[in-house]
Amino acid sequence: MIRSPEEIAKMRKAGRVVAEIHAETRAIIRPGVTTAQIDAAARAVLERRGARSNFLNYHGFPAVICTSPNSMIVHGIPGPYRVEDGDILSVDCGAIIEGYHGDAAYTVGVGEVQPLARRLIEVTEASLNAGIEQMRPGKRLHDIGRAVQDVAEGAGFSVVRKYVGHAIGTEMHEDPQVPNYWPGSPGPKLKVGNVFAVEPMVNVGTPDTIELEDGWSVVTADGSLSAHFEHTIAVTEDGPEVLTRL
Ligand code: MG
Ligand code: MG
Repeated sequence: MIRSPEEIAKMRKAGRVVAEIHAETRAIIRPGVTTAQIDAAARAVLERRGARSNFLNYHGFPAVICTSPNSMIVHGIPGPYRVEDGDILSVDCGAIIEGYHGDAAYTVGVGEVQPLARRLIEVTEASLNAGIEQMRPGKRLHDIGRAVQDVAEGAGFSVVRKYVGHAIGTEMHEDPQVPNYWPGSPGPKLKVGNVFAVEPMVNVGTPDTIELEDGWSVVTADGSLSAHFEHTIAVTEDGPEVLTRL
């Protein structure tokens, strides 16, 4: 799917709201805050900016953000959980403006975190940036995942296979999928106007995942820590434009 400059302008607006949610939720995360309070901060931004949530009611999801602490990889439901000193917390959120979607995630250390946790966060963000760098006309779709995988595995971590990135536009999840690893073939050529949500999930241990009984929360099978970073990015003549960054 090729998005016109007018469509990308709308996605830039949606992306800006997502970036504001990131900034405002990051600012309140400290030991003792509940994940429900973080969700409330995100709702306040959506309301203020006249944006709709693409997470709320998505297949019945009950919140506007996902909050996934420690060994939880993605899709955690905000609630009474109080983040603790030493936790890492992944926050994933999105917004819809004028029918166009943005989607992005970050992982943050709460208070004083162990060096391994800090390195996991840094490596996961670096792996996303390496993937974004590939988003140029003429590159191949799977160059993105190869670059992500090189960074994550080069640091001794693993990349989740079961959950992947995606094209995004008038729906949050559009085809094609964007794997965070080399799937064995280069995939289609990237073109100006492609817009993807690239979202590496990186584990300290094995890439295996388990879905919990709440039907949403996904955790590492081995209980190891996991981090998640995501941006919505457009391929332009001049290279990647990150739409979900302030
Ligand atoms: Mg997301
Ligand atoms: Mg996504």
